[in-house]
Amino acid sequence: MKIIFLGTNGWYDSAVGSTVSALIDSKDAYIILDAGFGIVKARDYIKEDKPVYLFLTHFHMDHVCGLHALSRLNIKQPLTIFSHSGLKKMLKTIFDHPYAMPLSDMSFQIKTVELKEGNFIQPIKFECRSLDHIDYTFGYRFYLEDKIISYCSDTKPCINDIKLADGADLLIHECGWNIRPADDFWGHTDPEGAGEVAAKARAKKLCLTHFGPNAFETRAKRFDGQKRARKIFKNTLSAFDGMVVKV
Ligand SMILES: [Zn+2]
Ligand SMILES: [Zn+2]
Repeated sequence: MKIIFLGTNGWYDSAVGSTVSALIDSKDAYIILDAGFGIVKARDYIKEDKPVYLFLTHFHMDHVCGLHALSRLNIKQPLTIFSHSGLKKMLKTIFDHPYAMPLSDMSFQIKTVELKEGNFIQPIKFECRSLDHIDYTFGYRFYLEDKIISYCSDTKPCINDIKLADGADLLIHECGWNIRPADDFWGHTDPEGAGEVAAKARAKKLCLTHFGPNAFETRAKRFDGQKRARKIFKNTLSAFDGMVVKV
């Protein structure tokens, strides 16, 4: 199974990366995590007719702005979008005239599923829990090919964060802050915070993504973040756009 990081920035695109999106290419399905502008690159990787599922964590623009270019995916199979309540309303509001092409005009069918916190076995086995961010946000834990992949973005370190990452083969965690301020109004994580979550959860591997482009203006700053996280959790990688991780 492969995880392809399509966009690894939070907030806005920069020379270092596009806004956040990742693709899990598993045996039975393609699973897209969030829809920042990085999602446009999924076109290069979705080649088979496996089901395609898109899981949105929340509706901040850096996680949904790529829906504006969704027609680029050029898939034949339907796309099912999952998120918490409010998903249908959000899609109807933003992805409609006069802002963007309505999703109903896409060349492929789009289905939507509004989730409540809990465990699910259809169409794949997964769990979703609310995280500690300024607006309601889900983190996810997927059970795929006898492996566990957890995705937590956006959030400050919290109990559900650690629960979702428990023993995960791969924890993909946000890193919006370079140094998290004491009065963290928005709710993001810095490299040390992500390292602590991975260590407490006894995850096997940590990939940092959703780097604040203001806090991590260069690739070197991401490598510095990786070094700092590794002091707490050794098996840490800072993700970059185009990076592929095998699990
Ligand atoms: Zn974000
Ligand atoms: Zn956010």
